[in-house]
Amino acid sequence: MLDHGNQEKEKMIKKPDRAESFKPKCLLTDRQPAYTATGFIVPCCWVDNPWGMRDDFIKRFYDPKMHIDNNESVMEIMNSDLYNEWWDMLINRPEEAPDICKKYCGSKLEDKVTKHDTYISKKGNK
Ligand code: SF4
Repeated sequence: MLDHGNQEKEKMIKKPDRAESFKPKCLLTDRQPAYTATGFIVPCCWVDNPWGMRDDFIKRFYDPKMHIDNNESVMEIMNSDLYNEWWDMLINRPEEAPDICKKYCGSKLEDKVTKHDTYISKKGNK
């Protein structure tokens, strides 16, 4: 049985409830696009991994024509047909969203999903 201190810690690191309906955080919050180490701009860092890259839609963000070197500016990429198609899909056909998105954004908008913020104060760890 957990003591009170451990129960508090357990509560702090509680995993998000992924059974929530799909709420794309890149669309509905200030979650920002990610600039990858390989020179691409993807809708968020959660999709920049082998699982994300296997998805037919996300794969298109890694097309050489989307590479930062092949565009005049970040805004050119953000205003591309591909990004417009992405937002249109999330707004009008969210059921078509990649599985990886349904996993990461199948939780409450305020859930941190992959990280837990810890603030240290003079009184100790809060
Ligand atoms: S996981 Fe997908 S839907 Fe969620 S914020 Fe990232 S790109 Fe958007």
